[in-house]
Amino acid sequence: AKKAVLGPLVGAVDQGTSSTRFLVFNSKTAELLSHHQVEIKQEFPREGWVEQDPKEILQSVYECIEKTCEKLEQLNIDISNIKAIGVSNQRETTVVWDKLTGEPLYNAVVWLDLRTQSTVENLSKRIPGNNNFVKSKTGLPLSTYFSAVKLRWLLDNVRKVQMAVEENRALFGTIDSWLIWSLTGGVNGGVHCTDVTNASRTMLFNIHSLEWDKELCEFFGIPMEILPNVRSSSEIYGLMKISHSLKAGALEGVPISGCLGDQSAALVGQMCFQDGQAKNTYGTGCFLLCNTGHKCVFSEHGLLTTVAYKLGRDKPVYYALEGSVAIAGAVIRWLRDNLGIIKSSEEIEKLAKEVGTSYGCYFVPAFSGLYAPYWEPSARGIICGLTQFTNKCHIAFAALEAVCFQTREILDAMNRDCGIPLSHLQVDGGMTSNKILMQLQADILYIPVVKPSMPETTALGAAMAAGAAEGVGVWSLEPEDLSAVTMERFEPQINAEESEIRYSTWKKAVMKSIGWVT
Ligand code: ADP
Repeated sequence: AKKAVLGPLVGAVDQGTSSTRFLVFNSKTAELLSHHQVEIKQEFPREGWVEQDPKEILQSVYECIEKTCEKLEQLNIDISNIKAIGVSNQRETTVVWDKLTGEPLYNAVVWLDLRTQSTVENLSKRIPGNNNFVKSKTGLPLSTYFSAVKLRWLLDNVRKVQMAVEENRALFGTIDSWLIWSLTGGVNGGVHCTDVTNASRTMLFNIHSLEWDKELCEFFGIPMEILPNVRSSSEIYGLMKISHSLKAGALEGVPISGCLGDQSAALVGQMCFQDGQAKNTYGTGCFLLCNTGHKCVFSEHGLLTTVAYKLGRDKPVYYALEGSVAIAGAVIRWLRDNLGIIKSSEEIEKLAKEVGTSYGCYFVPAFSGLYAPYWEPSARGIICGLTQFTNKCHIAFAALEAVCFQTREILDAMNRDCGIPLSHLQVDGGMTSNKILMQLQADILYIPVVKPSMPETTALGAAMAAGAAEGVGVWSLEPEDLSAVTMERFEPQINAEESEIRYSTWKKAVMKSIGWVT
């Protein structure tokens, strides 16, 4: 059969907390041509600990590339049209591996992991100078969330990591670094790098100078030689080198030329290039990012300051204010895996629809403490307002509402910090296929919620960065290039007063979740 004629194609690895995907886009229309997705195991070896196997993650990337290439072949699309590959990834998750064997020296410590709570407490007692030391350099509060303390824990507790550091064999990286190093050859010349967006989540990176910060590395006791090189989000880092895999081997020699933390990638994929443009992504957690242009804006209301993107070595850096919610889709996964009241995440919609109300039940899923705007490690999850009448459908509904209320809290904080309230909310992520959730969100925010018909904006952002890189140049970052993307709108349907009453009851529930552990 004749192969279809297309413009240059760009692939994207989207390595999330819940799953890995590989997607291939047409660079001329941003049309998604084919993709494959594999769910990732999460291990909970102790209460509060969350780990993943870095080799399983890598394997899932190979598998997704293979399967996507097979699907492209079935569509008669020539794989050799793939001109570049971008990587987007779950952020902060920490890996240390051996550069001589390519073996991880411990499981990946996932961003949600709480084991470093005492590390954080000890460190916060000896912050030099004023309390602003970490925040003013990194834009981040000292929290279990970020990589530096996870790495500190590994150095303190894992003999294999200590030995590898002493013997100069250890490499540290977030998932992007681990994947790029492996995909560009691993022990045979793999490139050890990261991009500015991922680096800005480690708590070791100075977001003003865009370099690893010597004082921070000293404070956290991190040897700087194990850190990856920091590059822009759009440049050729290295070429694909996969020897053992047949189909994926077809991508041998293709440049990896885009790298963005998943939330930055979504911001780019949603084309939020202007000061004041924002998007909210509903995945395992929920992350609202607002582009603040070339200015580092520091929040008065519990938001983070982070690097949004830097699309080229000589291009300027953009910053964002970020509201991070730890648990969003994860609460749905919890209802599936821990309570067993649903068999698949999609089923939650059916349950919620059956009742159409939580009947006064509120669910604060503070499984990992509360992130923005509270930053309360002492919070734990609660379900309250239960009566004899409450059933699993009400709890399902309350779980969806919780995601919307948490978004409302960060949107309020964002509006206060930015001064100009958002007129609508651009959304994406795995949960946005849930129409009840989207309608609830519009009702609770009392502004329209706007969702692109192509929900894979994270991957799209990584593909755009890769395709636009110097030396690749198959993607120009102009809005008209997104002709394949149309929008779906959800308008608020309940009145503002009703929305306010629900929201204030939610806040009461949040107060009850705080201070649960001491
Ligand atoms: P991540 O990027 O963090 O891996 P995704 O964007 O892939 O996450 O979204 C996956 C999350 O969304 C999972 O936690 C899953 O439980 C949740 N999810 C998926 N589909 C639905 C749905 N229809 N309704 C509610 N939640 C959903």
